[in-house]
Amino acid sequence: MQPFEYNLHEILEKLAAKEFSPAELFESCKNRIDSCEKNIHAFITRTDETAKAQLDKNPSSPLAGVPTVLKDNLCTKGIRTTAASKILGNWKPPYDASAWKDLREAGAILMGKVNMDEFAMGNTCGNSAFGPTANPNDISRVPGGSSGGSAAAVSAGYVPFALGSDTGGSIRQPASYCGVYGLKPTYGMVSRYGLISYGSSLDQIGPFARTVRDLQLVMSLIAKYDPMDSSCFREKHPDFTHREDVSLKGKKVALVKEFQSFTLDAPIAEAMNKVKKILEDEGAIITEVSLPVIARYAVACYYALAMSEAHTNLERYDGVRLGYTVKDATGIKEMFERVRSYGFGSEVKSRIIAGTCLTEPVRCEEYYVAATKVRTLIAQEFTRAFGETDFILQPVTPSLPPKIGEVDEDELKGYETDLYTLPVNLAGLPGLSFFTGYSDTLPVGLQLIGPRWSDPELLNAGVIIERHTGSPKIANGGLK
Ligand code: GLN
Repeated sequence: MQPFEYNLHEILEKLAAKEFSPAELFESCKNRIDSCEKNIHAFITRTDETAKAQLDKNPSSPLAGVPTVLKDNLCTKGIRTTAASKILGNWKPPYDASAWKDLREAGAILMGKVNMDEFAMGNTCGNSAFGPTANPNDISRVPGGSSGGSAAAVSAGYVPFALGSDTGGSIRQPASYCGVYGLKPTYGMVSRYGLISYGSSLDQIGPFARTVRDLQLVMSLIAKYDPMDSSCFREKHPDFTHREDVSLKGKKVALVKEFQSFTLDAPIAEAMNKVKKILEDEGAIITEVSLPVIARYAVACYYALAMSEAHTNLERYDGVRLGYTVKDATGIKEMFERVRSYGFGSEVKSRIIAGTCLTEPVRCEEYYVAATKVRTLIAQEFTRAFGETDFILQPVTPSLPPKIGEVDEDELKGYETDLYTLPVNLAGLPGLSFFTGYSDTLPVGLQLIGPRWSDPELLNAGVIIERHTGSPKIANGGLK
């Protein structure tokens, strides 16, 4: 086996045993990227040449010499950060996102910044000013989004782990489409400092990896209090240590009653049955919870809030402070118009316009304020449900990844496919997207949800399921 083919914890063992050196690991990952990238197009900016210089720094730190990539909405000091938009131009942030700073200080090596839907708005990785990314399991299909570049990079074996962000499913959905594990942590578990905001009350940074144990290791490094993010937890000290002696005996795992009548592609329905059986064999009790408000209103509530927050967050891109600008405008109004007309893509523009309408003083009560009330009901519904069960098992998406370019004509339908992921963000819960097996060449993922701050327990449950399903293989990346 070549170094790039190992999982994160295997890499660390082999580096420690000197079976290969950080330089050999780096070359192996770089060669893998060089051979697959023309098929996958995961990168917006490659930084491997500068990364090479970091190889021998911090030899005793926990991730010394391990290559990684970051979704391009995570700020990296002195390295172009685009959020996959033209409006940020050639902007090089003057600081690092806290989560990246933690990994960098732990010795991780940055291979580059990877593709996403512009400002994290979308679920295909096709709304990028840099063109689409392909799914390494089948390059005619989308990798999912918005963190499609991060999921594709881990799936294709470019790097053993990566970071992405999840506002309404953007870690869990691409993880499932690409056949890797992805965790959307509890809101406040990982600092958002240096994450380019989309919907600030929903956004959360989290990891992708090819084993659950690797997610545990990354979480143990990035889940910590950060004074730079006022929504970051202070009192919690989560323990992400990997343990083999974990059990699901007597734990309750619920299915959502209202979701049972919704259509799922056959491989996803089969995966649900397979995982139910695994859980029962492990001594868990399968039950049911009722989430009527979520089933009926979560999608509308999420999009009303996400668009309202996005329109405020994106107001700062005006050509004055940073990013793309025009020098020959005759006045400020013309400058704003020209910068934003050119700089934002059509999905972002339509969401800014919708967000502006939803929060206008005359309509605000009826839409934005109403949505915040529905959000409270949704959070309460989950709290009640978690009084009756330890976890909820549900799909990530109703179907397997579509072909690139074959995305639904009706945009609202695309929004509806987020039904299984976005309620988790509305309530600030953790959600684990896990691999269950393959349907032909395509991986099939499912999702386990827990109450707030149950991230360590969720990952322990993931470890148990992974023992039965096996970890995903590295995808062929379009190579013959
Ligand atoms: N698809 C959802 C949206 O477009 C979620 C995106 C995300 O989680 N960043 O808003």
